[in-house]
Amino acid sequence: MAQQTRLETVIPYYERWLARFPSIQALATAPQQEVLALWEGLGYYSRARNLHAAAQQVVAEHGGQLPTAPAALRRLPGIGRYTAGAIASLAFGLDEPVVDGNVKRVLSRVFDVNLPVDSAAGEQRIWELAAEHLPPGRAADYNQALMDLGARVCLPRNPACGECPLQSQCRACALRNQTERPVTKPKPVIPHVLVVAAVIRRNGRVLLAQRPAGGLLGGLWEFPGGKVEDGESLPTALQREIQEELAVAIAVGGELGVYQHAYSHYRVTLHAFDCTLVKGTPRPLVAQALRWARPAELSDYPMGKLDRAIATALQKK
Ligand code: SF4
Repeated sequence: MAQQTRLETVIPYYERWLARFPSIQALATAPQQEVLALWEGLGYYSRARNLHAAAQQVVAEHGGQLPTAPAALRRLPGIGRYTAGAIASLAFGLDEPVVDGNVKRVLSRVFDVNLPVDSAAGEQRIWELAAEHLPPGRAADYNQALMDLGARVCLPRNPACGECPLQSQCRACALRNQTERPVTKPKPVIPHVLVVAAVIRRNGRVLLAQRPAGGLLGGLWEFPGGKVEDGESLPTALQREIQEELAVAIAVGGELGVYQHAYSHYRVTLHAFDCTLVKGTPRPLVAQALRWARPAELSDYPMGKLDRAIATALQKK
């Protein structure tokens, strides 16, 4: 939960999660919809799906006990090199290094690494440095000390070198190029995507579609719609998307709201419209499932931020 999300935000989610899933077995046997609902608001939903799948794999392949070896941990969904190293060293006391953004900054400065730390070669170099200097039997202290030093002293813009216990060994400090380390690759331009969504009403209910499993926001519910193509008007794009996804024709009415959100790799502006069915019965050609829900029931369906904003606006009306 704490990957990519601030701890203050995480704590109440973590407490609710442990109260509902006090063991790996409890998580493994829970329905995915309940797992996603407890995660709603934290974002990066693949973390929730992976945690759920990892619990199921631990029960099926390891008798419900988390394996200790990093190689076995890394075969679990959602566990990469960093998480495997953190679990192996902090939970099981194994001599495994951990490299996160803070460790990259500290080690790239102490050893004046001039390779981009977000390149394969740069990352490999930092992992090697972290492993070479790990004191046997003290991996947990060493890993936490490096992460803390990066979080509190070796800060990105203003490293407090005067207070740093590594100052006498730090090459970047001697060369006075601390703020040029770590080197990173040039950042790509973040694309902006224009999206439309339909609030299709029938007999006091609105139509929800469940996103395909596996993709972005997989398993969550949304108001159907999609991307606006170049040169398309918003209503035309919405009619096309609904035809493609649900095999029905709709009439597009008034605009209900405009919503913005920034994901990790792109920004979205979403226009939501009031719509009515003109022809056909909706079929889930892309979605996993469709539901007609009363506005009061919308809280029962786990959703991403943008769709939750639409649902909340509908509930207030
Ligand atoms: Fe970071 Fe300065 Fe310490 Fe070097 S001396 S590790 S740059 S805080």
